[in-house]
Amino acid sequence: MYRKLLEYQEEDKKLKAIEDTYKTNEDYKKYNVAVRFLKTVSETKTQIEDRAGYLLSELDDLKVKYERLAEEQTEFEAVDEANEEATVVFLKKKSQELSKAFADIERDIDKLNAEMTELVSQYKKLSAETKAMKEQYEKSREAVAAIQKNGEGEKNEITNKLADIAKSIPAELMAKYNAARKSNKFPLVYVVEPSETKHCAACGTEFSSLESATLKKDKFIECENCRKLIFLKN
Ligand SMILES: [Zn+2]
Repeated sequence: MYRKLLEYQEEDKKLKAIEDTYKTNEDYKKYNVAVRFLKTVSETKTQIEDRAGYLLSELDDLKVKYERLAEEQTEFEAVDEANEEATVVFLKKKSQELSKAFADIERDIDKLNAEMTELVSQYKKLSAETKAMKEQYEKSREAVAAIQKNGEGEKNEITNKLADIAKSIPAELMAKYNAARKSNKFPLVYVVEPSETKHCAACGTEFSSLESATLKKDKFIECENCRKLIFLKN
């Protein structure tokens, strides 16, 4: 059962090597960073624009409130000039209320303005980054295209071979192999002697007596710890 899988693994190693040269290539890294950035930047900009729009409307509301208060103050000052004994207490209280209302609105306006300034600076920074990332994208794109063109033929050849070998491997086992490939370094498949059924040959984890028995009985176990595929030699 494992011979075909070992054959698959040998071929797959070559594919992994090509993928790794992509990953470690500086142009490729730069290209990927630029692509990821440019994909999300317009969304981020829209979020900033939406927030700015909201702040502006809040600011308008506050200005209306401010003007209304100013009108009230004018009316209040007109009453103040009359300065009748009976209204002194009331006027004092009203005066305090108005001062507090003005202070509150001014504080809110300052807060909004500060956030607006922050948003504008974020937007500017983002625009500058976008420009730089566009340049990075243009520069690295050609280099990446050249690498891909070189590797593509070889990759296709290997992929075809892999598909061919996979035909003789049970789908369930193939799925386990692919799962192991995602997070692991090669080798993914281990073949062990009957004397080596107590520990995982890949990560060294001690198997439970049940796992050990399963490996002996089924000639195969997927390590719970490292997900690698352990076969009993036959
Ligand atoms: Zn393991």
